[in-house]
Amino acid sequence: MAKLYTNTPACCKFPCTGAPRLQNRLTLSTPQPIIKPMKPLLSTVDSVLFDLDGTLVETNIDFPLMKREMFRLAVDAGMSADDLAGLDILGVVDSAARFLTDARKPADAARLREEAMRILEEIELRHAGETREIPFAKELVSRIRERGIPIGIVTRNCRPASELSLRIADIQADVLICREDSDNHKPHPEPVLLALSRLHADPRNSVMVGDHIMDVQCGKAAGTKTIGFLRPDRADDFFDDVAPDFVTRDLREVLDAIIHRDS
Ligand SMILES: [Mg+2]
Repeated sequence: MAKLYTNTPACCKFPCTGAPRLQNRLTLSTPQPIIKPMKPLLSTVDSVLFDLDGTLVETNIDFPLMKREMFRLAVDAGMSADDLAGLDILGVVDSAARFLTDARKPADAARLREEAMRILEEIELRHAGETREIPFAKELVSRIRERGIPIGIVTRNCRPASELSLRIADIQADVLICREDSDNHKPHPEPVLLALSRLHADPRNSVMVGDHIMDVQCGKAAGTKTIGFLRPDRADDFFDDVAPDFVTRDLREVLDAIIHRDS
């Protein structure tokens, strides 16, 4: 299953690339190709950026526990649950630290942030040892790098857990941007812009691939093309509100979405 979003009218999800027609022709005379032909998103590719957890690897990190623990810290600091509604895990930490800073308690804010990062790292490391590769992730990353295109990984996870996951999955990246590396985090563009800067890559010639809406928002805010990777438990319309340039359930389709097959 793959979707290509363009500026075409809402009635048509496919651009006029001829790809669907070519696919139909192929099915008449030859076996269905595993990877569907399509027009690549980029004519020049400076870099390909990936989210880590849920996109290249599966770690089963206990995100609900992380959120409960961050809520506890924020409420202990004096915030009400209403103040925290709708915030993601790192958003709760930022909000609680800001709350203490605004109350002229900067030392408490720093202590809360330190304690939050310690708890998050401990939970992430507990699960990083159980890392499993998402099917075809290692092959995809290797095939992109073989073409001389650098890979960046942009994750909200901490560095020790991210490096352990990548070691277990045997995935190599040229740049790894973790939670510790930026002040702002996805969906803010800062971590993607940092990865692009370290790779000397132009966002207009780069693509961000991820399994969360925040990955698409972050890539778009930084000016890259975006690919939404649908995990098996996600509905087909999961990314519809943020409209990435391409959506797939199969990482093997990412290469053809980015690069001309004969390049
Ligand atoms: Mg993810």
